[in-house]
Amino acid sequence: CQLSAMPDSDMPRYPVFQSAAALCVGVGSFSDPSDLPGLAHFLEHMVFMGSEKYPSENGFDAFLKKHGGSDNASTDCERTIFQFDIQRKNFKEALDRWAQFFICPLMIRDAIDREVEAVDSEYQLAKPSDSHRKEMLFGSLAKPGHPMGKFCWGNAETLKQEPKRMKINVYKRLRAFWKKYYSAHYMTLAVQSKGQENRSHLLCIKNYGLPKPDFSDMLDPFDTTAFSKLYRVVPVGKVHALNITWALPPQEKYYRVKPLHYISWLIGHEGTGSILSVLRKKCWAVALFGGNSETGFDQNTTYSIFSISITLTDEGFQNFYKVTHLVFQYLKMLQTLGPQQRIYEEIQRIEANEFHYQEQIDPIEYVEDICENMQLFPKEDFLTGDQLMFEFNPEVISAALSLLTPEKANLMLLSPEHEGQCPLREKWFGTQYSMEDIQQEWMEQWTGNLELNADLHLPAENKFIATDFTLKPSDCPDTEFPVRIADSDRGCLWYKKDNKFKIPRAYVRFHLISPVIQQSAKNVVLFDLLVNILGHNLAEPAYEAEVAQLEYKLVAGEHGLVIKVKGFNHKLPLMFHLIIDHLADFSASPDVFSMFAEQLKKTYFNILIKPEKLSKDVRLLILEHSRWSMVDKYQALTAGLTTEELTEFSRSFRAELFAEGLVQGNFSSAESVQFLQYVTDKLQFSKLTAEVPVMFRVVELPQKHHICKVKSLNKGDANSEVTVYYQSGPKALREHTLMELLVMHMEEPCFDFLRTKETLGYHVYPTCRNTSGVLGFSVTVETQATKFNTELVELKIEEFLASFGEKLNALTEEAFNTQVTALVKLKECEDTHLGEEVDRNWAEVVTQQYVFDRLNREIEALKQMTRDELVSWFKEHRGQSSRKLSVHVSNAFVGEKQEEKGKDEDLRSSAYGEVSKLTFLPASPKVEGAIAIMDIPAFTEGLPLFPYHKILK
Ligand SMILES: [Zn+2]
Repeated sequence: CQLSAMPDSDMPRYPVFQSAAALCVGVGSFSDPSDLPGLAHFLEHMVFMGSEKYPSENGFDAFLKKHGGSDNASTDCERTIFQFDIQRKNFKEALDRWAQFFICPLMIRDAIDREVEAVDSEYQLAKPSDSHRKEMLFGSLAKPGHPMGKFCWGNAETLKQEPKRMKINVYKRLRAFWKKYYSAHYMTLAVQSKGQENRSHLLCIKNYGLPKPDFSDMLDPFDTTAFSKLYRVVPVGKVHALNITWALPPQEKYYRVKPLHYISWLIGHEGTGSILSVLRKKCWAVALFGGNSETGFDQNTTYSIFSISITLTDEGFQNFYKVTHLVFQYLKMLQTLGPQQRIYEEIQRIEANEFHYQEQIDPIEYVEDICENMQLFPKEDFLTGDQLMFEFNPEVISAALSLLTPEKANLMLLSPEHEGQCPLREKWFGTQYSMEDIQQEWMEQWTGNLELNADLHLPAENKFIATDFTLKPSDCPDTEFPVRIADSDRGCLWYKKDNKFKIPRAYVRFHLISPVIQQSAKNVVLFDLLVNILGHNLAEPAYEAEVAQLEYKLVAGEHGLVIKVKGFNHKLPLMFHLIIDHLADFSASPDVFSMFAEQLKKTYFNILIKPEKLSKDVRLLILEHSRWSMVDKYQALTAGLTTEELTEFSRSFRAELFAEGLVQGNFSSAESVQFLQYVTDKLQFSKLTAEVPVMFRVVELPQKHHICKVKSLNKGDANSEVTVYYQSGPKALREHTLMELLVMHMEEPCFDFLRTKETLGYHVYPTCRNTSGVLGFSVTVETQATKFNTELVELKIEEFLASFGEKLNALTEEAFNTQVTALVKLKECEDTHLGEEVDRNWAEVVTQQYVFDRLNREIEALKQMTRDELVSWFKEHRGQSSRKLSVHVSNAFVGEKQEEKGKDEDLRSSAYGEVSKLTFLPASPKVEGAIAIMDIPAFTEGLPLFPYHKILK
């Protein structure tokens, strides 16, 4: 998990082939001054608020948006990375604008006061996240004064209020930090583009020549008695998790051996003989991750983490000492057997295959990796240092392995059951926890003569590693788009031979459409269970294939099961057959059933407590006719289901299906047809008796403003969300493109108005909405109930839309054309890898629209579009006749005596029963003319439904 990296992205972006640049500054949060926690992160935000040469605050973003670009930045412990991409022809100018941020950023006082709110919002958003909480708590166990204990996020308290009290001038300190550390000799730059024009732009950054901050003398941050204990933690979500963690000396210097990668490969193995395999058989655990994520928090110049994280079931939680025991038995086995050359070489081969035949990475991600590698590795390893295993060195591996002992381990146990037993609080995120000694009898067993466990052993040789990488000759004419090469009343297959990327890989996807899923909320839940248990049944047999980079994914779609398989084509059919075989022979024992029913309850709960997820659920519940909401599903599940019901459901699911597939990549058409053949032969289903529409019907909203305000289901969470949606209707491709163009025009002004100027929240964005073929657009703001109530946010969004309307009126033909060109360029852009092409085609197959040349048609539509059309389209949707729906999710804090109840309320997380129904709140009279929805079925019952609609022309 990427815990300590803090990506500061804003908008969703298009996957395109562009020019990109990334700069890594070798300074991060470790260098925060002790009286200003979060300063490095704050500076990362502030350098982007205009430069002396280009003073406009959001000028760079506006420039990027205009030319189809994007940017991002993140602050890590010892590094800060900035990156952007843009269409090639604008790269030179963008590079100059970007470089000015490092040469002469403005950082004006007024902007500092406002941007601190964005940093604070970011912290508030991170607060209800268990992974962030766990990390902060872990950091707090470091020796006093060690940078691992720093509060790297920063918030309004540390960057505004406290400095005010202490008379610290944040403005001066930001400048001083920038001056000291944003110096050329700490920086590495990676650029991906074509042509010669991009040199020399960054050479003018001053080189101050001070020595780089160095923490390598602060080794062993966790060499404390507080570390080797058992910590019990109350999580925000419903989850039982056991984390076993060791703090090792820094391992980065062994990047050519990658000892931790070798060890985590075995610890995290899921095949026969592995830890997880044994735990699964006992129904004690559902997942296990091991290793080091290579973020600055996990690996830096002071130490390297090795952690094992196990997601436990209720029973696993009761037996967590036995689970730990098993882990130590496995480690003892590894220590006894010593590093294995055969296994090392197998991993080496897999990594090398991946590297040599890797699909192209998005340029912006690639330069981000490379500029960081440049800080870590010698020149000859810039491109490969983070990926390849260069040499087997048993001494280095043994040394790391020998440190993973019970005495040196930290145990962290998360469970909702700990509620009420945890008197301690982590300082920054308020996590409740307690500390105790590891039970002596267990410790004695582990450190004494620990006996090995006969069920645990090393993995056998992997049979799924590809060895044949030849490209297949074609057996049919080349086509630009997929064609249907098989078609019957039980299924059909779309196929396109890859003639562009020419790699020994393939993608196979199937949609098994069934009428039974949407029949009831109970069926939707049974279907979720079916897919989860199918994944469980497959986990062990398919694991070897998975590590050999044959990836598979099972998705419980709204109307069918989606199976996705990709990887080297050589052994791909084996993998596909394995999945279909398991579906054909599906079964679930009562133990496994109850384990997954319990897990699913937690999963639903964890979705419901997130304001952004709940908001989406509420919006779609209103818009899509006969959709089952997450609350319906949660109720159906908690009412109790049985193994027999699942067995019956799986039988009826498989009885009647339509199988629709897509194959792309290195397979001939004859081979591709075999996939469909295998599905129909093996599953033996009959044809659908009636057509199953793969979409919902959508209600036509009245020409009024409705607000549906619900109470957040996470009691103590200050985050709230407001989405204002304007419905357009079942429209054609042309309108869809027009709306995309509109949203593109809206993005930067929206960010500028709602985030930068009004400081409402960290995430603010407009989006095109395609709801089962019915179009609309929306503006979303994630904010904090402690700062703004949702009605105020609603009014601010309105204010923004009004100001945007004026802006649009003043739009020049030239500006209009520039934006059209940018959108055309984005759509014209070649795919960087086969997967992008497949994703696009698959979207057409799964929605049964089959407009594979949609992009071309949209480009044609764009070229004919006029400025007046855009302006009047927006006006029309915002006028008297607009169909407007606002969804608010909030805990009422503002103006509700938050101080009194706030602090302690903050400590308690929601109980299971507290998410099983929605609480509707009346909209405040502040929002004039709005009608509150207090009962969704009552509201939607009387509304007309649009017919089923596809966007084809
Ligand atoms: Zn940030």
